[in-house]
Parts: sequence; C-alpha cells; structure tokens
Amino acid sequence: MKMQKIGVLGAGIMGSGISQVFALSGFNVSLIDISATALDRAMENMGKSLSRLLDKEKITSQQKVDAISRIRTGGNLTDLAGCDVVIEAATENLELKLQLMTQLDAIMRPEAVLASNTSSISITRLAAATTRPERVVGLHFFNPVPVMALVEVIRGLQTSETVFSSMEALAKAVGKTPIKVKNSAGFVVNRVLCPMINEAVFSLSENLASASEIDEAMKLGANHPIGPLALCDMIGLDVQLAVMQVLFESFKDPKYRPAPLLVEMVEAGHLGRKTGRGFYEY
Ligand code: NAD
Repeated sequence: MKMQKIGVLGAGIMGSGISQVFALSGFNVSLIDISATALDRAMENMGKSLSRLLDKEKITSQQKVDAISRIRTGGNLTDLAGCDVVIEAATENLELKLQLMTQLDAIMRPEAVLASNTSSISITRLAAATTRPERVVGLHFFNPVPVMALVEVIRGLQTSETVFSSMEALAKAVGKTPIKVKNSAGFVVNRVLCPMINEAVFSLSENLASASEIDEAMKLGANHPIGPLALCDMIGLDVQLAVMQVLFESFKDPKYRPAPLLVEMVEAGHLGRKTGRGFYEY
C-alpha cells in the first residue's frame, strides 16, 4: 500500500505533534485546520520542538530544515485530496468527526485510508459514515507525540486486515510501537487512565489532599512519572471530560460518571496548559 503523502486534519496539540513525527521520518505532510491561528501556532510549536531535539543532538540542523520543508499548511479540506492516508485529529466531538469522515470520503481517492486519532469515539461508528468502511481505522497517538512511544491501532468491525496491518507498519515507520486494539470506547489506555484521572479529581473535590499532594502521592506511591492532575492539565480538561462522557454513555456504568468539579472547570474555561489554567496555573 502506498503511504507517502500524509494528511493531518486539525492542527491542535495532537495534529502538530503527528505532523512533526511524520515529516521528521521523511513523509510529506499536508496539515489542515479551519483556524489560521491554530496553523500558525502549530508551525511555531513544531519549530520549537525540533529545536529542542537539535539542542539534545537527537537530530541535525539539516533534519530540522528538511522536516519543516515537508509540511504544507492550509484551510481547505480539498488540499487533502491527493493524500494516501489522512489522520483526523480535530476536536473530540462525535458530530464533527462524523461530518469530517463523510466529507473526507467524498474527496479522497478510493484507495486512500481514513484514520482517526480520536481518544474515545467508536471507529466502527466513524467508518459507517463513509463508503469505504473497510479503509477506516483508529491511529491513536499519545501526547506529546514526539516523545510518547505508543500508538494504539484500532480495528473497527469493518476494518480490513490489509489496512490494519499497513497502519501497524506506518506507526513503526515513524518510530512508534503499535499495539493492536479491538474497537471499544476509550480503547485500552484511556479506558484505564481516564477513570484514574477522574478519581483524582473526585479526591481533590472531596479535599482528601491538595492537587500537588495528590500528584506527589501518585508519583511516589504508584511510581507514575507525572501526577494525574498535572497530566490532566497536559491532556486538556475538555478532552478528559469528553472521554469520560463517551465511557459513561457507551457502557452505561455509573463508575464512569465525570467528576462534577471537572465539568465545572471546563464550563469555566479552565482547560489546563492550553488556556494557562487548570488544576495548576501556567
Ligand atoms: P485541540 O483542541 O488542541 O485541537 C483541535 C483542532 O481541531 C483545533 O485546532 C481546531 O481548530 C481544529 N478543528 C476543529 N474543527 C475543525 C474542522 N472542521 N476542520 C479542521 N480543523 C478543525 O485538540 P487535541 O488535543 O489536539 O485533540 C485532537 C484529537 O486528538 C481529539 O480527537 C482528541 O480526543 C485526540 N487526542 C488528544 C490527546 C491529548 O492528550 N490532547 C491525546 C490523544 C488523542
């Protein structure tokens, strides 16, 4: 399967990280967003991230220049028409993603693969919004993409074996370690991780300890490299809430109910690092 031209839809935290790792691995990338500000910020963040890799002597200055030169940005979905694989990394919203899948399906070549970086939404459901459900797959990268080794490759009910195994190969081609996961809300990592973060928010709202104490406790007591509340600030409180809502609605199990404090903080616009305020101030 030809996989040289990669499209990335959505230039937020994940879209920029995904674009960077593909460009650094020699792929040509078209990065699309409806927001010109998001595209400018993405290019700026990729420049900074590549400079850090250069400072640590993990890449050469030529690799940095080459990576940047392989990324094209734009505001029109039609710019993705010639891509072999599109990775959708837009806002975590079911209606939006269904609409984007249908639109992408209409403009992409029939043999192109539509992948979604969704944190929680059913790949089977996204696939059903297209006329090529066997060519729709989940490619779930982790934040920050240049640093995190894992990619969950998610098989929807309709995903073909050929597409599934070629996406595993694609993840390896950008230096990541893929694990194969059956489609199910939250897949593996978020099914385990997000309820843990949610429980940390409950612990905070019940005044069991302060935010920094809860984080310190999980670092020292569970050997986690980062505390759950600091991690939530990094992920984005809106993304964490969206995942909990999907788990809650999918399994209809009260153990997944979002912590009321999380809901209220999202209502207040305290979304974590990206807004300068979450459980901590930045
Ligand atoms: P983000 O809010 O940082 O970025 C989303 C981007 O999508 C924004 O720039 C927005 O302008 C753009 N967008 C919205 N509608 C669009 C449209 N119609 N066309 C083009 N662009 C559009 O979000 P993020 O954290 O990068 O998350 C993106 C996806 O990745 C979500 O599905 C999320 O669940 C998933 N994800 C997030 C994380 C994380 O830690 N943040 C980790 C893994 C997966």
